[in-house]
Amino acid sequence: MGLPLQGTNVNEGDTTAASALRKFKDFKMLKIKTEGKKPAKVKGLKPEILLAAFVATGLCGKLFNGLDCVITAGTDSHEHEPDSLHNDGLAIDIRTRDMPAARIKEFAQELRECLGSEYDVVIEIDHIHIEFDPN
Ligand SMILES: [Zn+2]
Repeated sequence: MGLPLQGTNVNEGDTTAASALRKFKDFKMLKIKTEGKKPAKVKGLKPEILLAAFVATGLCGKLFNGLDCVITAGTDSHEHEPDSLHNDGLAIDIRTRDMPAARIKEFAQELRECLGSEYDVVIEIDHIHIEFDPN
């Protein structure tokens, strides 16, 4: 299957890919919020912001011991803000509630360094807003 099974301890008879990957210590996931009243909408997200999501995922796992990165908003819920880049598929929100509160600033700063000057990273009350805004 081409999955990174080497170095993991897969139980006899427990050979599903998901099971193997759970045992893979440094495995990080990019997740989309699907629960609750406002699941994240991803239709129309542009490649520039998807790239940022992958960068955030790697950083999340690295800084927070394999913590998954969860997109809580994509192209949704910003009709009241016509200028928001969410409406253009160029912004996402990342969940921060599972991150150590004292290290969210560090996460945001490293993310800024990884993404460069074409992106903006803003710490909000319950999420980090990332947008591709090269101007
Ligand atoms: Zn946002």
